[in-house]
Amino acid sequence: MAYSETALKENYCKFSDEKLMRLAAEDAARLRPEALVLLQEELAERGLAEAAHKEIAAQLRVLSEAEIEEYCALIRAVPCPICYSVAEPLNATVTSKVSSFIVVTTWKEELAIACPSCLDKLSESATSHSIIAGWWGMPWGIIRTVKAIRFNKKMAKDHHAPSPSVPLKAFVVDNARSLDQVKDNRNQLHAFLIGLRLS
Ligand SMILES: [Zn+2]
Repeated sequence: MAYSETALKENYCKFSDEKLMRLAAEDAARLRPEALVLLQEELAERGLAEAAHKEIAAQLRVLSEAEIEEYCALIRAVPCPICYSVAEPLNATVTSKVSSFIVVTTWKEELAIACPSCLDKLSESATSHSIIAGWWGMPWGIIRTVKAIRFNKKMAKDHHAPSPSVPLKAFVVDNARSLDQVKDNRNQLHAFLIGLRLS
């Protein structure tokens, strides 16, 4: 461990300022804790600690329970990114879709954030797709299609729930940095949710 830390330190010494800053801005969350400490030390020696701090802190952003609830509530209050309805609070679901191609059967899971009615339609569409295009692959087609039908049915139970679904909370946790940037502007938050569907 001591050797690898020495080697790591030497490596960071050789990096240009630009490369170190890029590492701090893009990869801080993926570094081992000891590597992150060495990176921060090297940045400090070059007088770049302050500039890099914001980038690193943003990547290591961990939301508190209260923040997760707050962000879920903000998302739930914007118009549906699919039908633009504001009649019901938004929620999130994950749909499973099975497709078979001769001997290959694929399983695709997709996250969706929308109003409960649109989530129902997406879930029904994923199930219908699996029934039509998934079941006939042998042997996995039938097995996975049955699994997808059950999965979609289970996820759909939370579409109309009064509280945020597990996929919505997971989305908030995974997208803390992006949500930080749009949380104060309802239009931007709405556009962010629309963008998710297009990406
Ligand atoms: Zn909708």
